[in-house]
Amino acid sequence: PKTAYVRTKPHLNIGTMGHVDHGKTTLTAAITKVLSERGTGTFVPFDRIDRAPEEALRGITINIAHVEYETDTRHYAHVDMPGHADYVKNMVTGAAQLDGAILVVSALDGIMPQTAEHVLLARQVGVDHIVVALNKADAGDEELTDLVELEVRDLLSAHGYGGDAVPVVRVSGLRALEGDPRWTAAIEALLDAVDTYVPIPERYADAPFLMPVENVLTITGRGTVVTGAVERGTIRVGDRVEVLGATVTLKAVETVVTGLETFGKPMESAEAGDNVALLLRGMPREAVRRGHVVAAPGSTTPTRRFTAQVYVLSAREGGRTTPVTSGYRPQFYIRTADVVGDIDLGETAVARPGDTVTVTVELGREVPLEVGLGFAIREGGRTVGAGTVASIVA
Ligand code: GDP
Ligand code: MG
Repeated sequence: PKTAYVRTKPHLNIGTMGHVDHGKTTLTAAITKVLSERGTGTFVPFDRIDRAPEEALRGITINIAHVEYETDTRHYAHVDMPGHADYVKNMVTGAAQLDGAILVVSALDGIMPQTAEHVLLARQVGVDHIVVALNKADAGDEELTDLVELEVRDLLSAHGYGGDAVPVVRVSGLRALEGDPRWTAAIEALLDAVDTYVPIPERYADAPFLMPVENVLTITGRGTVVTGAVERGTIRVGDRVEVLGATVTLKAVETVVTGLETFGKPMESAEAGDNVALLLRGMPREAVRRGHVVAAPGSTTPTRRFTAQVYVLSAREGGRTTPVTSGYRPQFYIRTADVVGDIDLGETAVARPGDTVTVTVELGREVPLEVGLGFAIREGGRTVGAGTVASIVA
């Protein structure tokens, strides 16, 4: 018999952000070192994180390093990026989908321009929880560090993060990496703060099920199977679902999940992040295709208009050489769907390659959308921009 898939701790995506040279990479390495000594992680040295591999996310190239580790209660995937431009692109495209962020601020330097910009970006793309690492505390003067802490709390409050409640932990990534017990304990305190302050995302338990369809297959004698990665919620065999097709004549088809597998193994239930195949009762093969969404009945309403933060790729990144103006009509790649849309730049009027702008989009057909959802913008078969849904316009 096939072995059932076993799940252990809840999984969260986090990342370090903050001004260049404030110690993000050193801290990331220190976290892996401390947890490797606890036996729940593998040490990843500074050099391996700093040489972040290039990745193409939604058609945009960014340098991003992924490390993973466990605390007593959770499994974390942690991202760190070398340059400010990598943060802007990664956050605007929603590529990392952070459940929480560790804002690294040097106790010696305090808030710097990129510190403030990353907090603003985090707010705009829907990162709701930030924990502060006041780094380089080994070299800082206590009174000055107190002032930096106040300044950081004010910055967070100004962006709606409730700065008084945010955990601020004084750490030294460098000394912890060297094995200093005092600063090793500080890293453990930081991890405890992340464990307790960043909640397990709703997608794990209560969020309504949603899966974008990547592929459709027919299994002779069994029926139609759709495959994809579960975006949120959970699904069990026997659950009712709706296939949202957004064709004019057939907006939604309700059916029942009669089989559930991951990598060829049967499962009882699947949740966010799982790659699954769903067998759908009585589903005609031609009624579902890539780009459709399988969701809990009534949980999502497809819409055409939304506002978004958009990054326009520079020519050097393979983007346009000329600016974009209102009336621009490219293709939008949203989840697995590909749909045309009109861009309205409002007061901004012109977006040059390399700019980040707020736009209003009207899609050619209805697509299930939500705040924080990332998408790519393509023209003539190449990516020219990427963005995140900021609000739905009724
Ligand atoms: P990033 O650009 O934010 O990733 O910063 P890095 O991790 O590359 O660190 C920048 C510089 O600060 C390096 O020279 C580090 O050795 C130094 N640094 C990082 N963390 C600490 C710390 O906790 N204490 C001290 N004194 N220096 C640190
Ligand atoms: Mg770095």
